[in-house]
Amino acid sequence: MNIHEYQAKAVLKEFGVPVSRGVAIFKPEEAEAAAKELGGPLWVVKSQIHAGGRGKGKFKEAAAGEKGGVRLAKSIDEVKDFAQQMLGNTLVTIQTGEAGKQVNRLYIEDGSDIEKEFYLSALVDRETSRISFVVSTEGGMDIEAVAHDTPEKIKSFSIDPATGVMPHHGRTVAEALGLTGDLAKQAGDIVSKLYAAFVAKDMEMLEINPLIVTTDGQLRALDAKISFDSNALYRHKDIVALRDTTEEDEKEIAASKYDLAYIALDGTIGCMVNGAGLAMATLDIIKLYGESPANFLDVGGGATEEKVTGAFKIITADPNVKGILVNIFGGIMKCDVIASGVVAAVKAVGLQVPLVVRLEGTNVEEGKRIISSSGLNVLPADDLDDAAQKIVAAIRKG
Ligand code: GDP
Ligand code: MG
Repeated sequence: MNIHEYQAKAVLKEFGVPVSRGVAIFKPEEAEAAAKELGGPLWVVKSQIHAGGRGKGKFKEAAAGEKGGVRLAKSIDEVKDFAQQMLGNTLVTIQTGEAGKQVNRLYIEDGSDIEKEFYLSALVDRETSRISFVVSTEGGMDIEAVAHDTPEKIKSFSIDPATGVMPHHGRTVAEALGLTGDLAKQAGDIVSKLYAAFVAKDMEMLEINPLIVTTDGQLRALDAKISFDSNALYRHKDIVALRDTTEEDEKEIAASKYDLAYIALDGTIGCMVNGAGLAMATLDIIKLYGESPANFLDVGGGATEEKVTGAFKIITADPNVKGILVNIFGGIMKCDVIASGVVAAVKAVGLQVPLVVRLEGTNVEEGKRIISSSGLNVLPADDLDDAAQKIVAAIRKG
């Protein structure tokens, strides 16, 4: 799960990470009070969307002006003008795609005088099974380009979870960024605070780009992007409260409501499967027989009738779906329970396209009996191969 920059900064501030003072606003009328509260003489008006590259982004609407999604203002009137221009308009950046994203929130910040801009991030590193930090002197830039063109300018190291951040990590960062004296001390301090925040909040990725040195010699996180491990959200109610669903895919939001693992794909066969491995195999076999899946959907091990109905609704709501393949292996779950779920779901949401159901495992005979006696137009299949061939044939028949 992702959150906005201003929310990320509030989280980091709790852990003592230095950030600028700021006020989030939702309406242009709130801009003046926010600007007055911060005092000036320099303000930054920042579009809050779940995408980076805002500074270099462009608004679609001419009324939003020529400047990007992050603007420096030198007067309260300018703050007001920018707020008026940006709120409600669509910002396109290298990360949003052509459609762009509507800016519904702004973060007005007390402007910093910048001496230097660095890059710093932390992530769960699967190779070392640890949290790794990545730092570079090339801040404010596209880090992928830096990694590609000048890899020597990127320094990375991992933290042993048994010891946590040690003084030598701070020295590594200071050396990589060319910091000495008090700034080197601040660097060590920030790394240990970021690490503490990362672990305590179960983050997946934390990116500070840029981390700046101000003209008065202070290190500060000027931008912040955080994504959290969704598997750990159950223990972070405060983080879940920060979720902005207007930033997320509608079908994926619906899927998360039913606790389904769902990813939209661009084919025509809707799939409902239990278990991620079986779901992957199902996508592969559909491809093998010459068609493409419309989604990946893992209903999980303990799918209830309600969950199965929810999954059906999401699949059938997709206009690209020309046929549905239900592929369930009843291990812990019983086939008769699934069959009842499928029948109830079809009755509840209707069925405009062919449906193939393959059941295997515990109580499979009872499951098949429920399907065949339901009176619904369901094509039964005996195994994965048979199921894939049947759904492909059915959609080709139209
Ligand atoms: P991004 O473009 O989405 O990554 O947004 P950032 O928050 O990183 O802002 C983009 C750029 O705006 C930064 O790299 C800075 O150069 C500039 N910027 C942001 N805040 C300030 C500020 O307080 N003072 C000054 N002088 N520049 C700022
Ligand atoms: Mg940035």
